[in-house]
Amino acid sequence: MARPLTATVDLDAILQNYRYAKKLQPSCKAFAVVKSNAYGHGAIEVARYLDEEADAFAVAAIEEGLALREAGITSPILLLEGVFEGDEWTLCEQHGFWAALENAQQMDELVASQVKIEKIFLKLDSGMHRLGGDKETAPNFVTALKETGQVGEVVLMTHFACADDLSDLTTVQQLTYFEQARQAIGDIAASVANSAAIMKWSVPEGGWIRPGIMLYGISPFAGVSGRALGLRPAMTLSTKVISTRQLKKGDKVGYGLGYVASEDHVLATIAAGYGDGYPRHAQNGTPMQIDGQSACLAGRVSMDMLTVRMEDYSVAPSMGQEVVLWGDDVPVEEVADAAGTIGYELVTRMTARPHYRYL
Ligand code: PLP
Repeated sequence: MARPLTATVDLDAILQNYRYAKKLQPSCKAFAVVKSNAYGHGAIEVARYLDEEADAFAVAAIEEGLALREAGITSPILLLEGVFEGDEWTLCEQHGFWAALENAQQMDELVASQVKIEKIFLKLDSGMHRLGGDKETAPNFVTALKETGQVGEVVLMTHFACADDLSDLTTVQQLTYFEQARQAIGDIAASVANSAAIMKWSVPEGGWIRPGIMLYGISPFAGVSGRALGLRPAMTLSTKVISTRQLKKGDKVGYGLGYVASEDHVLATIAAGYGDGYPRHAQNGTPMQIDGQSACLAGRVSMDMLTVRMEDYSVAPSMGQEVVLWGDDVPVEEVADAAGTIGYELVTRMTARPHYRYL
């Protein structure tokens, strides 16, 4: 008998979501972004399933790329954060990694290493002010990169700060800035779009899109679920009722006695907690399902357990019943909202403790 908390990952849903991203931007090639353990879904399992079909994968850093190569992944892999130390360039060549590049030091180290890299993604800071250079210096960077004779192709890349907010014109300004840089450079492929941009903004034809969160069936937009966007949620987090008790009106529950029963009802204790990645800041009322019926969090989240009540007080949960914390019918976006965060964070912060099952 094992602890019943299970994260079930539907790999085919991820493949379908990848295909959907490509369908939305048919002129582009697409990375499958599998950084941070494929947003908590298991980078190796996800990459193995997509390896034959994906145009390429994108990870944050070289450690993640090496783990994929060790697992036998053969598709190209882009390091989105680029290299941190000059000697990583040699590994990039050995393992066929592509890298983002954002500053002169990285370029000097590339030159010093004398390695050959198939594609460099030159980062342009179009307004997010996180990584990348400006449009004035970009043409010289491209020329210098080409003149090294070490780089097969230079792609101009940028990242959006506000693409998840359709009323925010920052994305249009960033796109305009990007196009100005591109015109100054001449003939160069583009890579701009994250999930929000792929789904809702008009992005440059051709080049490379970089879908992340949408692959996992999760929406980047506030108040809209992945399913409503035509995506298939990939992860179901489920567990079982491990204890029940009858509460009387006024009884208090859990750490800080943070839940007070407003009437007599049966309370269920379930095996899941913040030690598994369930958000500690989830509020009373955070949605879930017990045996297919609406239920919600009642009390503070502990490390290993949660206490739950049925929405309908007249229904009594019972031992062993299946509980869905998020999944098809309990959108992870709603759970995140009730915890003051975003779906990205919930899945990415999953720990190694739940059992992971792959469909
Ligand atoms: N591109 C870059 C540079 C990123 O940092 C990320 C994620 O943070 C992505 C693409 C994927 O973004 P999303 O998960 O919103 O699709």
